[in-house]
Amino acid sequence: MPTNPKPLLVVDDDLHNRDMLSRRFRKAGYEVEVADSGAEALAVLARQEIDLILLDSMMPGMSGIELLKLLRATRTPEDLPVIMVTAVSESDKVVEALELGANDYITKPIDFNVAMARVRTHLTRKHAEVALRESEERYSLAARGANDGLWDWDLKEERVYYSLRWKEMLGCVEDDIGDSPEEWLSRIHPADRVRVDTELEAIREPSHGTAYVSEHRMRHNTGRYRWMMIRGHVLRAADGVAVRMAGSQTDVTENKAFDSLTGLPNRVLLTEQISRHQEELRKKPDQLAALLFLDLDHFKVINDSLGHIVGDKLLVAFAGRLRHLLRTGADPGRLGGDQLIARLGGDEFALLVTDLRAPADSLAIGLRIRDALHEPFEIEGREVFTSASIGIAMLDPAHRSADDLLRDADTAMYQAKTLGRARCEMFSPELRDAAFHRMETENELRRALDAKEFLAYYQPKIRLDSGELAGFEALLRWNHPQRGIVSPAEIIPLAEETGLILPIGEWILHEACAQMRRWQLQYPVLNRCEVSVNLSPRQFRHPTLVPSVIHALAESGLPARCLQLEVTESMFIDDVTGATTVLNRLKEIGVGIKLDDFGTGYSSLSYLCNLPCDSLKIDQSFVNRMIEDKNSFEVTRSIIQMAGHLGMGVTAEGIESPSQAFELLGLGCEFGQGYYFARPMPAGKALGYIEEHCAPDAVPADPAH
Ligand code: C2E
Ligand code: MG
Ligand code: MG
Repeated sequence: MPTNPKPLLVVDDDLHNRDMLSRRFRKAGYEVEVADSGAEALAVLARQEIDLILLDSMMPGMSGIELLKLLRATRTPEDLPVIMVTAVSESDKVVEALELGANDYITKPIDFNVAMARVRTHLTRKHAEVALRESEERYSLAARGANDGLWDWDLKEERVYYSLRWKEMLGCVEDDIGDSPEEWLSRIHPADRVRVDTELEAIREPSHGTAYVSEHRMRHNTGRYRWMMIRGHVLRAADGVAVRMAGSQTDVTENKAFDSLTGLPNRVLLTEQISRHQEELRKKPDQLAALLFLDLDHFKVINDSLGHIVGDKLLVAFAGRLRHLLRTGADPGRLGGDQLIARLGGDEFALLVTDLRAPADSLAIGLRIRDALHEPFEIEGREVFTSASIGIAMLDPAHRSADDLLRDADTAMYQAKTLGRARCEMFSPELRDAAFHRMETENELRRALDAKEFLAYYQPKIRLDSGELAGFEALLRWNHPQRGIVSPAEIIPLAEETGLILPIGEWILHEACAQMRRWQLQYPVLNRCEVSVNLSPRQFRHPTLVPSVIHALAESGLPARCLQLEVTESMFIDDVTGATTVLNRLKEIGVGIKLDDFGTGYSSLSYLCNLPCDSLKIDQSFVNRMIEDKNSFEVTRSIIQMAGHLGMGVTAEGIESPSQAFELLGLGCEFGQGYYFARPMPAGKALGYIEEHCAPDAVPADPAH
């Protein structure tokens, strides 16, 4: 992999396709930009470097083909690969696109695994080409890394160079295979041979384009056939006669039917089965069938912490348990007959169940799978716990294709994740609308960032015994052009998921430090006050956190002791050691660390003792109820006591009444925050607050000094 990958760009006017592709590529670790039109795509390209484009051929306004033409006027296929997304029926478009310099194509409905394989191949090739410019040796390594075989066919001499990898892919060694075209042609499956011969003949026609793409079976040394994807480029003499052709061979067998790791049917086979049932459903509309989409929770954490081998074994064991469960279900008859389990790739599985008696039966199956995961897996002598989020969609005549069904089940699965994982959710049209909304909001957030529509609000923090101002908490707001002020509850989760939290968080950190410093210069009494900034989990894990805090302090001139960073317990759960390292580095700089929303998580005392935090914020849910509810009162009291023993400061948040403030003071709580004192307010209003509350020593600094 290159060290500085650039984003992929998905250009599609269809919101669903954009959403699906961008979400999945992001999940696979790619950065993704999206555009809903040719014009928007050009704007993105003008703004930043893009590694590869997935381009919908049919769009209103500027079509994909037109955009491609424009792009190829300045950018070569090697420099900016373009993969066209076309409908199956548009083979003429495919040919046109390839002639215009598209590198490849995929057809709709989009099979994500195929899309991923092609993107990976072209990126590998692109990066290989960069490497070639640097050194021949690196190129050959890259080609080997891509697992592609290479061939180079001299059409005049009828001799072919086959790379070692090409031979190995067929189970052969260097000397097994000579340099005749027959070495290739004679290994083609008899059922594919005529077609390939025709393709190769066509290529020699002077009128034919320069791209050669073919998929056929090749006989492996074991006697089995493997599916190969061949991509080549034809060189022609001035008179148009093809003289040479060279390209790659990729083994795509795994894309064809079965998953090599678990032995389960793969997406292709599943899709075929779904299509078959959809066909049947049209004839017999009263049949009931459902698709369950399963995604393991936190699989990446397991993979990263325990290693790929354990990860792979977990997938195999999970597949085994699924099979076992469905074979020996308590009463399989009751839950309906035919079932097909497939692995879709990564940690995603699907289950197609037909002949159901009622839609609720599919939920029963989903719940049974969920419950079967309570038992840990034993892998390499250790117990590994996992859970799955499950989305269910019923087969419905309204679905035009298998992909529609998969997408709906995926949407429901996503909902299960959002609601806290390890659960089952049924698809509903409302969910689809929510997905639409999410996608729209995401695009809007990107725009808002560019348009500088974010604001920081400031909520005063008060010393409970004296009523003095002790500082401010900076809280994010979005000043939406139509909707007005939007709360962070609507922004942060999505920003976190898409990574937009990084630039947003960086912005508010700088803004809050700069604002506080300006106030301090104006009112020196504020030198004793601090400003708190909330961090999100993703920000906290990101390697640039510490440098960016240093930068924000240096740029604003705010003393480090005047900055508090608010973190939550959830940031430590997965990796206490890593989190402690980060916290210690922040403390070295001199900034304070506050544990926000305290009491809602799982923290135990011993656990807290080891965390380098300075203070706690009692969650507002306890403060809220502390007067009426004895338990909340007790929790509040013990948190304050505990903090005292540990030498940590305490702030109570969400104070709304004088009686709450009074009780908290009695319990020994030092600081408070809440509507009773002041609501969060824009910077201009906060200045008014300072002027009013910092008297009498709140004399503004003499501007002359
Ligand atoms: P938080 O950090 O626990 O912030 C306290 C929330 O309680 C704020 O909501 C505040 O407006 C609200 N609040 C304060 N006093 C009272 C009160 O007396 N009664 C009630 N009912 N609520 C009160 P807000 O501003 O909507 O922020 C919600 C959450 O969003 C914050 O919870 C924080 O977790 C997150 N957030 C806000 N700004 C940022 C940010 O810049 N970055 C990150 N990562 N998260 C942020
Ligand atoms: Mg906070
Ligand atoms: Mg809080």
